[in-house]
Amino acid sequence: MFRLLRINTREKSFTFEEPSKALTSLGGRALTSKIVLKEVPPTCHPLSKDNKLIIAPGLLSGTVAANSGRISVGAKSPLTGGIKESNSGGLASQKLSRLGIKAIVLEDKPEGGGFSLIVINKDTVEILPADEYAGLGNKETMKRLWQKYGKRQGVISIGPAGEQRLTAASIHFADPNGRPGRAAGRGGLGAVMGSKGIKAIVIDDKGAGKIPLVDPKAFKKANQRWVEILRSHPVTSQALPAYGTAVLINILNEAGGLPTKNFRTGRFEHAPAISGEHMAELIEARGGKTKEGCHPGCVIQCSNVYCDKEGKVLTSGFEYETIWALGANTTIKELDDVARLDALCDDIGLDTIETGCALAVAMDGGLLPWGDGKAAIDLVKKVATGDPIGKIIGNGAAFTGRALGVDRIPVVKGQGLPAYDPRAVKGVGVTYCASPMGADHTAGYAVAPNILKVGGNIDPLKKEGNVDASKNLQVATAAVDSTGLCLFVAFAVLDTEDGVQTIVDLLNAQYGLSLTPNDVVNLGISILKDERKFNTMAGFTKAHDRLPDFFKEPLPPNNTTWDLTDDELQEAVRFS
Ligand code: SF4
Repeated sequence: MFRLLRINTREKSFTFEEPSKALTSLGGRALTSKIVLKEVPPTCHPLSKDNKLIIAPGLLSGTVAANSGRISVGAKSPLTGGIKESNSGGLASQKLSRLGIKAIVLEDKPEGGGFSLIVINKDTVEILPADEYAGLGNKETMKRLWQKYGKRQGVISIGPAGEQRLTAASIHFADPNGRPGRAAGRGGLGAVMGSKGIKAIVIDDKGAGKIPLVDPKAFKKANQRWVEILRSHPVTSQALPAYGTAVLINILNEAGGLPTKNFRTGRFEHAPAISGEHMAELIEARGGKTKEGCHPGCVIQCSNVYCDKEGKVLTSGFEYETIWALGANTTIKELDDVARLDALCDDIGLDTIETGCALAVAMDGGLLPWGDGKAAIDLVKKVATGDPIGKIIGNGAAFTGRALGVDRIPVVKGQGLPAYDPRAVKGVGVTYCASPMGADHTAGYAVAPNILKVGGNIDPLKKEGNVDASKNLQVATAAVDSTGLCLFVAFAVLDTEDGVQTIVDLLNAQYGLSLTPNDVVNLGISILKDERKFNTMAGFTKAHDRLPDFFKEPLPPNNTTWDLTDDELQEAVRFS
């Protein structure tokens, strides 16, 4: 029933194709990484016709399984030069699955300029001129597409950053309210979509049937247990719905792991002003929303709507990593300024983590003062207009550092470090080094056993135990990213005896399989091996699995340093 939709962006043509046997059982990240490995020449330029952009719903997407509407986007990354998978919420995943589309594969690239709009529905695929949308931000693009094609359509779009093929460009997905707050942010995948001349994709699943389930009774039973698991863990049932992921600001600050002023200290004196608790108070007072799902069927609802003093929506999906990147990392302490920066990034189509890292590097380079929210807003606005300074910021932290002669550049494999200082959260530091994706906390979220004491209790300040913790989490994450489940389910799964088994029960009931939890582990390992293989063929060596040297400086207040050796880190990438 599931097919691959291949679109030739030069010829403006499409074909539907039965997936090969090797691809049939894969979804989400497993599928995007397998297609990239098989079909993209590892040494190609990421913006050339030889790269492909693959958009794939997870294996459970489109069913009623709770929190299963995530979508994976994969390609060779223009930011890292390696393989990339970045995933997002929004409406697209469930709709593509219901249309029986296992993946969209964007191939080739158009000659000359111009942008196209792809419209997919039950009966056909149209590839139309998109001149009227070119140059628009994601917000206006989504608004106009909903006006034209109807509310609650799945929309995938890029903003001016992707159109300019900047390497911090993200791809955005309309949420259930048509806002662009959900993004496949990391790795510059928006630039790949821009290089294919695709401004937006509309997915209309009207008239599509339900996803077939081989054993509906068993699926219903497994989903009841699944919901029960998610609703009974304190992180997924209380902390995330009440404060969103920004609940982590105070927690990481207290642990001394909140990177501040371009990774100079682990504590930000103004952390309470940008904390999840303060954000929740402002949302309550101003009439926003603290509990919202990024797609239908989310029972955790960590997302939110944040308003200004007048009660006008400033941004949505205002997350911890964004608030850290644009707040503590740049020492901007006014939450409204941070929210404005987030909204700008969503509209222009920029990864908030990469942009925050680039802004802090720019502050180090003297381009704007530390903590100056207004100056940061003015600078980010320049990305949309194609101003040369804007292009520098829009190409991320490493590019900005080179342009400004800065020697303190927090990247691994060219990608900006996220919101956890590796000297104070060593498990996640291992993930930054080892992940084929470059510095990426989601690739192996060792913050759970290091700081939150979920799924284990490993000292975050010592290296002992952290290589194994990261390695196991990388494997589990690769598998979860293939199911379409949101990563936050891991908090409950790690602490619940039958957590993994319940996910396996859902997959078995949907597809008529007899998988075991061990098969899920093997899936995770095979994905990581595929990704590593691609990177090796692209020219990556163990020298790319390192943190920048400045992490050997002690980090206040714990005064720990990054002390893992190359050999120890190679253990984290060795999968038998
Ligand atoms: S918990 Fe948050 S990220 Fe996960 S599906 Fe729900 S809203 Fe989206």
